[in-house]
Amino acid sequence: MILDFAAVWQAIALAAGLVALGAVAALLWTRRGLVVAPPAVRKRPSGPEESLARLEHGVERRAMGARLSRERRTQLAELARQQQPFAVLVGCSDSRVAPELIFGCGLGDLFVVRVAGNTVGERGLGSVVYGVTVLGASLVVVLGHARCGAVEAATRLAEDDDALTGALKETIRPIVPAVLKAKLDNPPDLITAAVHENVRSIVERLKVAAPELAERVADGRLKIVGAYYDLLTGDVEFFA
Ligand SMILES: [Zn+2]
Repeated sequence: MILDFAAVWQAIALAAGLVALGAVAALLWTRRGLVVAPPAVRKRPSGPEESLARLEHGVERRAMGARLSRERRTQLAELARQQQPFAVLVGCSDSRVAPELIFGCGLGDLFVVRVAGNTVGERGLGSVVYGVTVLGASLVVVLGHARCGAVEAATRLAEDDDALTGALKETIRPIVPAVLKAKLDNPPDLITAAVHENVRSIVERLKVAAPELAERVADGRLKIVGAYYDLLTGDVEFFA
């Protein structure tokens, strides 16, 4: 039997190429997995020292990555000079609702205002106005989400005014009107309905709460929309 060495070498090269391609695909999948995988699957640090160590370790890993990438260093230097976020994101403090991860954004893209229940008090409003008028964002998104603990607490507070006290009560109280309004329709899922109603009421309030925002909405320079994030599917529904 006569071996065709050229054909054998071609087959070996093809096999090696396929293996390399597979390795790259696996790496990309892993990298994507690292980005997408919820950090919650990791063990929670046992106390403040371990928690701080977790954050410090994260900073070290990120810094190491930045040193390796010239593009990354350039990007950080540009961002250090100025920020030009295209959107203001009003979101909940919930650890599962990280805006940059949800919307596939990076540093410098979103000006984020976060508080439990994604409500907007006076200071929050000032931050939104700053993001729009000074930083030039042309979009404001109020993001509610499934299984919001703040909205759940508001349903309890709507039933019993003594259900919460102190700072917690003050934080949750602004959500109660949305819960009461949602209840009027007797929805099958009160929490989901109340989350939507809460977002809608905040969107409407933002449109008139500050003249700087109202002017821009009127002449089309600014859009203020609501959105709902589904924790289970990762889907986002936008609504006016
Ligand atoms: Zn929430």
